[in-house]
Amino acid sequence: MQQVFVQFADRTEAQLVAPTMLVEDFAKMMNVVALFFAGKLLKNTEVISVVPQDCTLVAVSPVDGAGKDKKRKKKAKKTPKRKPHVQKKHKLSLLKLYKVSGDKVDSLREYCPRCGPAVRMAKHANRTHCGRCGHAGK
Ligand SMILES: [Zn+2]
Repeated sequence: MQQVFVQFADRTEAQLVAPTMLVEDFAKMMNVVALFFAGKLLKNTEVISVVPQDCTLVAVSPVDGAGKDKKRKKKAKKTPKRKPHVQKKHKLSLLKLYKVSGDKVDSLREYCPRCGPAVRMAKHANRTHCGRCGHAGK
């Protein structure tokens, strides 16, 4: 038997081979696609005895699965990013809630009948609503 060292990308293995074994069969046995010795590609039809005892053969591993570890490409977004709702700024919005006539100030919002005269109700297009208790009225 002849001992050779097979150098992989990440390790080197010592192998005992029959000197009459074809390079092709040895490569298959090692699960590599090609073997190099001293910078030269060993032909499939050559036998192992063409290389000296205890020499190192450089193995070329199959390339299937190459890039397998690469990060998956980011999925393209189908819809544009939704803009978050931003409440509009109303300057001095308080003025819309009160009406000043001379010395008198009237509130334009009704008090909530459930919460009493401390909580006024919001005015919407078709209803009024109390933010404190949820009471809705016309
Ligand atoms: Zn209320």
